[in-house]
Amino acid sequence: MKADEAPEPKLKRNFVVAIDGPAGAGKSTIARHLARHFGLLNLETGAMYRAFALKALRLDVPLDDPAALQRLAAETEIKLEPGDEENRVLLDGEDVTGQIRNHTVTDAASRVSVFPPVRAAMVKRQQEIGAQGGVVMEGRDIGTVVFPNAEVKIFLDAAPEVRGMRRYDQLGQTGHPDAKPARPPEEVIRDLRARDERDRNRADSPLRPAPDAYLLDSTNLSLEEAVKTAENTVEAWLAKQGRDATNR
Ligand code: C5P
Repeated sequence: MKADEAPEPKLKRNFVVAIDGPAGAGKSTIARHLARHFGLLNLETGAMYRAFALKALRLDVPLDDPAALQRLAAETEIKLEPGDEENRVLLDGEDVTGQIRNHTVTDAASRVSVFPPVRAAMVKRQQEIGAQGGVVMEGRDIGTVVFPNAEVKIFLDAAPEVRGMRRYDQLGQTGHPDAKPARPPEEVIRDLRARDERDRNRADSPLRPAPDAYLLDSTNLSLEEAVKTAENTVEAWLAKQGRDATNR
């Protein structure tokens, strides 16, 4: 669907919804739904780390060399443009949207994102993009670091096996190069756990819920139920704004 044919969003507000959580928890699906439902822009910050990792791979920059990665970050421009299904990602002006979801880039993104200079460069860009509000931003550190004052924060989680199987099914549906049967579910679950560990244990901006985040565990929920719960969380915040305004 072209942008000008998109359904009229239900509401237009300039608040920020921060969605954080590990891989495969359902962040993208939920973020996409909230963006459509509330008339917000959906920004996937993981895509920026992925694009940066792609550049490092292309130029043979070692993924464990912070100084080299810092130099690379200083000369890299990454733009996210909202799209209907996923963000369009521009790496130094080149559309790399179709090149950042494969296994090699996924693993590299997880490795380069532990380094503070890389994070600082991405966070700065994310704060610029979201400065006007009106966004759903999903990642690992949105509610804690990028937008600690976000109006609504949701931390999405699910048991690793459940996340792994969801990711496995997703890969199968997309005709993705990592799709089944090329990679068995055990491998998908193993990779997901390794990425999680790196995200949770890094010194800079580890993956953890902000103290004021709504914790949404979708282990025993269908994706539809999780989406509805997230929607209700935003609705509750909006209703509270309405009540506060009336009582002023
Ligand atoms: O969300 P996605 O899987 O696309 O993110 C790719 C990688 O980028 C993650 O494994 C994570 O290590 C990193 N990331 C991050 N901080 C974010 C978003 C993603 O460290 N805000």
